[in-house]
Amino acid sequence: MIYLDNAASAPALKCAVEAAQPFLAECCGNPSSIHTEGRRAALAIIEARERCAAALGASPEEIIFTSGGTESDNTALKSAALTGLRVGKRRIVTTNIEHAAVLRTCEFLQGFGFEVKLLGTDADGYVSAEQARELITPDTAVVSVMAANNEVGTLQPIEEIAEICRSRGVTFHTDAVQAAGNIPLDVRGIGCDMMSVSAHKLGGIKGAGLLYCRKGCEVIPLLHGGGQESSVRSGTENTAAIAAFGAAMEHSCRDINGKAARVAKLRDRLIQLLLDIPGSRLNGGRERRLCGNVNVSFSGVEGESLVLGLDLRGVCASSGSACASGDVQPSHVLLAMGVTEEFQRGSLRLTLSEFNTAEEIEQAAAAVRETVERLREITR
Ligand code: PLP
Repeated sequence: MIYLDNAASAPALKCAVEAAQPFLAECCGNPSSIHTEGRRAALAIIEARERCAAALGASPEEIIFTSGGTESDNTALKSAALTGLRVGKRRIVTTNIEHAAVLRTCEFLQGFGFEVKLLGTDADGYVSAEQARELITPDTAVVSVMAANNEVGTLQPIEEIAEICRSRGVTFHTDAVQAAGNIPLDVRGIGCDMMSVSAHKLGGIKGAGLLYCRKGCEVIPLLHGGGQESSVRSGTENTAAIAAFGAAMEHSCRDINGKAARVAKLRDRLIQLLLDIPGSRLNGGRERRLCGNVNVSFSGVEGESLVLGLDLRGVCASSGSACASGDVQPSHVLLAMGVTEEFQRGSLRLTLSEFNTAEEIEQAAAAVRETVERLREITR
């Protein structure tokens, strides 16, 4: 099997599985318990918090563990919106290419009287900081712009947008679920108030995520209860997943530029091989792009059929966003970029990791070519 769906979920790293292991079976302690087993679990969480904070250039107290990227995005947006409301701020600014975890949360808040303004994207999938400057007003409660897009891998100008927000006293959140572990992230350098990260996208195990929240930036909890995570996220901690997250964060941020350069080489070879197939086009700009993201469309082919055909040939891929797979709605990202309907329907996303080999890339490209040709024959 050739696994090229790392943006949907990456395989758990060996170091992450080893870090989780003791807390799956032998150590059953609740991290809030004061006995030995409880203290052992609590210690694992302290260590994971330190590792995650170090990987992002944050302080450990600024890291709130959550259940994943969706919860982190929800917490960031709902909390910042409610905090803004206290002082009469009702505007939310985000982009039309965000993940559903952000877009659906904004729609929810709209139902409670917030005004949502969407930044558009150009044909290559980039958001403009200039447009952001026009939409960010002093009555804006929060701005949320993703660091990297999950479908086409484009990197957004978050530093510039964070600077605009800072100068206008507006809270800035970035969804870095796809960026973390693939590009260096330094919360102080970026200048964000909040950042979402998910463990299972970078070699951790499912069920853990984090929200970085700058010291001094208030968080209104979504979950109330026993007061875990400094009372901003109640609920017994998922010790195993959090311990694994710490290990995975540390691993994925080590030699990140070297790894990214190696993966980008494979990505560029794959793009070249796929664009050699007649009737193909690359979605998303080449310049500022995640090292592992390939998104190519083929005319006269349905993306879902392509994914199923590739599965039969032992290649795991996705069409559009994996979270939306099984649902044949056109991709909102390709739609926002103005991709024609035919190319929207025939889109294929292949996302690489440091574990893919040059041989796998050649084999996967051959499998795509065969599948596209076969599907075109059937529908001719
Ligand atoms: N944000 C982005 C950009 C994503 O790609 C995803 C998942 O695909 C999420 C948020 C949601 O993360 P999780 O699956 O951890 O809830």
